[in-house]
Amino acid sequence: MASEFELIERHLADLLPLGENVRRGIGDDCAVVSVPAGRELAVSIDTLNAGVHFPHATDARDVGWKALACGLSDLAAAGADPDWCTLALTLPEGDEAWLAGFAEGFADLARAHGISLAGGDTTGGGTLSVTVQVAGTVPAGAGLSRRGARPGDRVYVSGFPGEAAAGLAALLEGAGGIDPRLIERLNRPVPRVALGRALRGRASACIDLSDGLAADAEHVARASGVAICLDASSLPVSDALAARAGDRAIDHVLGGGDDYELCFTLPAAVTPDPDWTADGTVPLTCVGVVEEGTGVYLRHADGGDRERLSGRGYRHFGNSAS
Ligand code: ADP
Ligand code: MG
Repeated sequence: MASEFELIERHLADLLPLGENVRRGIGDDCAVVSVPAGRELAVSIDTLNAGVHFPHATDARDVGWKALACGLSDLAAAGADPDWCTLALTLPEGDEAWLAGFAEGFADLARAHGISLAGGDTTGGGTLSVTVQVAGTVPAGAGLSRRGARPGDRVYVSGFPGEAAAGLAALLEGAGGIDPRLIERLNRPVPRVALGRALRGRASACIDLSDGLAADAEHVARASGVAICLDASSLPVSDALAARAGDRAIDHVLGGGDDYELCFTLPAAVTPDPDWTADGTVPLTCVGVVEEGTGVYLRHADGGDRERLSGRGYRHFGNSAS
């Protein structure tokens, strides 16, 4: 079996070119990076555990892509330009074929965003686990946060939240005839980095959708000290999701995690431009409004009382309603 050093040398050391801000990368005790004058560093770290964050049978290339996508999505939500990342791997059997596939998927997405792999750690044992730390930069003071939503702002989402969760549910059910789009959305989420950059100086608040729209809107509401009212009839439901989930589609849109779309708030006078997204084809849909108060609500199409949403979305430590 290959040693840790051989695995790093063969599959990781030369995987990606180093950007100009990485002064020293893989091969030393520390990576050394610089932050350009007038910019600030945005940093995030996420762990994916096999059997928890992705099914054990997931293709190694998809795990590589998704592990980096989670981090890039956090940078997108901060409005940051991706710069470098570090990678910690726990490999149960030092499986070299798995690592080769993982590196391929990781590199495919990394190259698309010009992000460098500056270092990491490789260990054996336990359960397959992947931790990616990402760093990006923003012009000083211009980063996006969850804190700035104000009453009167409009709430938007990119893309079609709920598709990844519908894909996962179909996989776990062993369903036949699953629309490949849903599986693609689960395994190959596209971090909305260009959108996050375009939202700098425009959005009052921003978050990426990892826990589900209802739960993540709650994070924005709480951080900003406001209420958010979502409009059921405005929620974007893709054809693929509607075909799969029928009248449970809205539950997936509100509760499904893992989409890595952005949810953001804009002052009412600002209209989003399709050119804010990388290829201009990702829909940006107004799904609600920011109000005074607390909590997240859903207004139904029938015009009845609005419903308070809570406890929807994925939680690692129990699903106690709050
Ligand atoms: P140390 O013993 O000093 O911690 P390591 O043996 O863990 O060094 O790693 C050797 C070099 O390989 C370091 O530069 C480290 O950053 C890099 N490295 C180790 N594992 C990974 C990985 N999974 N991805 C990227 N770089 C890695
Ligand atoms: Mg080490």
